Amino acid sequence: MIYLDNAASTPIHKLVLEEMEPFLKEQFGNPSSIHRYGRKARKAIEKARNQIANLINANPSEIFFTSGGTESNNTALFGVGRQRPESKIITTSIEHDAILEPCKELEKEGFDIFYLPVDKYGLVNPLDLETHLTENTSLVSIMFANNEVGTIEPIFNLAQICKEKNIIFHTDAVQAVGKIPIDVKKLGVDMLSISSHKINGPKGIGALYVKKGISLNPVIFGGGQENGLRSGTENVANIVGFGKACELSKIDFLENSSKMQELSNYLSKKIINEIPHVTLNGHPELRLPNNLHFTFLGVNGEDLLIKLDECGIAASTGSACSVHIQKASHVLQAMGFSHEQISGSLRISLGIFNNLEEMNQTVEILKNVVKELRSVSPLKEKYSF
Ligand code: PLP
Repeated sequence: MIYLDNAASTPIHKLVLEEMEPFLKEQFGNPSSIHRYGRKARKAIEKARNQIANLINANPSEIFFTSGGTESNNTALFGVGRQRPESKIITTSIEHDAILEPCKELEKEGFDIFYLPVDKYGLVNPLDLETHLTENTSLVSIMFANNEVGTIEPIFNLAQICKEKNIIFHTDAVQAVGKIPIDVKKLGVDMLSISSHKINGPKGIGALYVKKGISLNPVIFGGGQENGLRSGTENVANIVGFGKACELSKIDFLENSSKMQELSNYLSKKIINEIPHVTLNGHPELRLPNNLHFTFLGVNGEDLLIKLDECGIAASTGSACSVHIQKASHVLQAMGFSHEQISGSLRISLGIFNNLEEMNQTVEILKNVVKELRSVSPLKEKYSF
């Protein structure tokens, strides 16, 4: 198999697994216990907190563990939003469901949610944000990089606009962490969501960065762990693995991101040169180094995925972290794509373990599969070779 769905999830790094193992076996203590088992677990958690903080240049006390990107986003939105009932929250029309769905809930509670539009590349215009901020705005949440088309948003400018008006700015950086450099202090963001399984760590663990001085209402109540923000006995093994994944991501950052960029440049050029009627979607330059998103006109994306899977390639049409796989991409709709363009879309997301040989094999397989699907398509006259 050639695994090209790293935006959905990544394989666990061998060193991450090694680091986790003792905490699934002999080091099983509860980190809140006083005895040595407990103390060892607590120490491991605090080490991981440091590793995560280090990756994004935060202070360890600003990192709160959650069960993943979804919970981090929910905590940010409900945690800040509910401090000002019925206030205005600004987000975008291309967010992941882990933002859109909590926003719908807040809308039911009387919040005024405004969805900023994007251009044909999926970019938000900072001037649009400026126009829509009001006295009543409590929070702005804009994703760092889009999970479908890979477009990177102007986070520094957007955060700056909010800072000037004293409005809290959150960014869902689940896809961006480990792919592009992130320094929360330089960016001036107030909150930032991270997920471990996108950076070769375990699933079901993530973190929310909350800048010192920002107060949040908890969403989960109980024993008061994570400084009262997120009660529940900590998932020690996962936290340890997440910490290690962040450490490795920092150490290998330049090597990994340039390798993924080279491979995706190579693959993209080859696909565009060797397969007719293909377009690369998303921004041509402001995009994640590991993301390629294409439209193969005259092809149904889901048929394409099934055929690719039969031929040993795992890819995606868009977001796999949603159960609504049937629904047409809201991201491509917001970018103004036609039904035909949406239907023929394919996301290829590379990871740190891909290689050049896999890129060559992918092009050969794609060429054949696209040709075959076009030959039976109702649009075959238009798009045949
Ligand atoms: N936000 C974005 C942009 C994502 O791509 C994803 C997962 O695909 C999530 C949030 C959800 O993260 P998790 O799977 O850790 O809950």
